[in-house]
Amino acid sequence: MAAISLRNIVKKYGDGFPAVNDVSIEIADGEFVILVGPSGCGKSTLLRMIVGLEDITSGDMVIGDRKVNDLAPRERNLAMVFQNYALYPHLSVYENIAFPLRLAGASDEEVDEKVRNASRTLELDEHLERKPGNLSGGQRQRVAMGRAIVRDADAFLFDEPLSNLDAKLRGQMRTEISRLQKRLGITTVYVTHDQTEAMTLGDRVAVLKRGLLQQLATPRELYENP
Ligand code: ADP
Ligand code: ADP
Repeated sequence: MAAISLRNIVKKYGDGFPAVNDVSIEIADGEFVILVGPSGCGKSTLLRMIVGLEDITSGDMVIGDRKVNDLAPRERNLAMVFQNYALYPHLSVYENIAFPLRLAGASDEEVDEKVRNASRTLELDEHLERKPGNLSGGQRQRVAMGRAIVRDADAFLFDEPLSNLDAKLRGQMRTEISRLQKRLGITTVYVTHDQTEAMTLGDRVAVLKRGLLQQLATPRELYENP
């Protein structure tokens, strides 16, 4: 786990108006921060810069005690959970969760211990032999989170993970993500354009508009002073 500091982060594509314009946010170790705003406000760009999928034009990005500006994604030790989960359809739930450990060359014993711990936490123990195609949307989401958990990542990053789900499941998953985040105490940055999600999930909400950080406050503060 680690704190994340965004210091005067700027992203320019070509010579147009900056997609992200001098954004500074200090995210505490274990904190859950939501990035919210309308389409095009720069939230995905900001998230991709944290993960390292996009270069920053200027500013400093610090994760834990490391400046990561020039580090490749895999050197940042972060776990990104995508909208479409990116699960392997031909692999079992067990092997989907085990995947990053296999890549890292972990022993079968280590893989087994970590996969079983993660699947207990996520209540997936009953489903380890199934294929993703036979799971519900919520279960698939949990497999994606299991894969993130086994890596002992310093932080979770979510890019609109619930936008493909129906309203009922979305509500359930919000509750689950929130519970799981508290239980694991893992620093989390979560992008959404959904106001309800923003106001119910996180410890703090960062509101972006045209690349600028407009507000940074707790949901309660935003509710009382919109
Ligand atoms: P979303 O709003 O779901 O993030 P977009 O439709 O905005 O998706 O963008 C889809 C992809 O196209 C992204 O990878 C983004 O980087 C890229 N993109 C968005 N806007 C532009 C643009 N003006 N020029 C080139 N690529 C763009
Ligand atoms: P959001 O995630 O809030 O919808 P984005 O971060 O995707 O916003 O985009 C922010 C701005 O940057 C938009 O104006 C978008 O068109 C532009 N943009 C995003 N990706 C690219 C890209 N690869 N090339 C050029 N412009 C881009």
